[in-house]
Amino acid sequence: MISTTPTRDNNYIELEDQYGAHNYHPLPVVLNRGKGVHVWDVEGRRYFDFLSGYSAVNQGHCHPKILEALHLQAARLTLTSRAFYNDQFAPFARFITRLFGYDKVLPMNTGVEAVETALKIARRWGYEVRGIPENKAVILACEGNFHGRTLNVISFSTDPQAKKGFGPFMTGYQIIPFNDLEALEQALGDPNVAGFLVEPIQGEAGVVVPDAGYLAQARQYCQDARVLFIADEIQTGLGRTGKMLAVDHEGVRPDLLILGKALSGGMMPVSAVLADDSVMGVIHPGDHGSTFGGNPLACRVAIASLEVLVEERMAENAALQGKYFRQLLEGLHHPRIREVRGKGLLNAVVIRHPDPEAAWSLCLSLKDHGLLAKQTHGDKIRFAPPLIITREQVGEAVGIIEESLKSLK
Ligand code: PLP
Repeated sequence: MISTTPTRDNNYIELEDQYGAHNYHPLPVVLNRGKGVHVWDVEGRRYFDFLSGYSAVNQGHCHPKILEALHLQAARLTLTSRAFYNDQFAPFARFITRLFGYDKVLPMNTGVEAVETALKIARRWGYEVRGIPENKAVILACEGNFHGRTLNVISFSTDPQAKKGFGPFMTGYQIIPFNDLEALEQALGDPNVAGFLVEPIQGEAGVVVPDAGYLAQARQYCQDARVLFIADEIQTGLGRTGKMLAVDHEGVRPDLLILGKALSGGMMPVSAVLADDSVMGVIHPGDHGSTFGGNPLACRVAIASLEVLVEERMAENAALQGKYFRQLLEGLHHPRIREVRGKGLLNAVVIRHPDPEAAWSLCLSLKDHGLLAKQTHGDKIRFAPPLIITREQVGEAVGIIEESLKSLK
């Protein structure tokens, strides 16, 4: 019989390799504990977590207040489905709509489900409010986008690997270049466009920050064309870039706001779409739903997760420590770093090296020196620690990065 409690990390890696589908290529480290900005492997080694579960753990691992909310609610009531009312969804709905200044929230679970939800709302709004002819609605999306992995969402991906072998794809999308206002203005000339879906910073593409003013002008163009501006803030939102939302840097208010990831502090999948009545009003009973969406456990955890972000001023800390982090990294003037970019604590370095595997090798070296990060799109490494990181810890982490860079010959 196979033991279910291997003691050495290699056993877990081998077991996963044998029994788990190979849809990820993880770093060879097996984690079993997390606290704040740190995680520990099964042999007790401590690491800085500079991925934060792809920005789901903004509040730090096992934040005590979120954990308490989870424990209390888990012992009382976890799931009712929305066939009945529960005493947690209403307080959550009031809390999140007031916090972000919208009339209504539609709760889901994973990020991609919230994206799907926003797209359904936008299409329905296009037909019912804008009068777009049936089945003709177009959603604009950006080159290099990442919005998740469902068949519909990969239909408008521009990453060949995300699509290969998964066709046929959903129609009704037009791709325009990211950070290109002219292209957007031109595309908005099509009267069948219902929405423009955009990540304020393209996270998975390697932390691609658009020019200052892009989002504000894009929002204006959408408003002028009566097209919904749909912000996917699943990765950029909830303090990550130094403001509660990345669009806040430009005073932009999306028509549809999509949140996920850190909405639960990494405790469970919780996502949401926020909009005003004029938009959300197109959804009626039976049109859309999810067994787990709005469950009492998720709602209680989400309130706690948002509260600690605000109470502990995590966005402000992200702005401060992010700036310091970039300053230190740039100060290295390292020949192997082509570029340092980002906002708040969503940052990336672009590696300069003839070996296409160099970024992966550097991640291995970082791990050996006590910092976990993952490369994205070959030559970029994203650095996104929990937002509670201190100045001293930033200094320590950059020391590790500097030391690890020595492995890149
Ligand atoms: N949208 C953005 C911008 C993301 O970064 C992600 C995940 O990385 C998603 C959507 C999908 O979220 P999930 O993996 O929870 O479905």
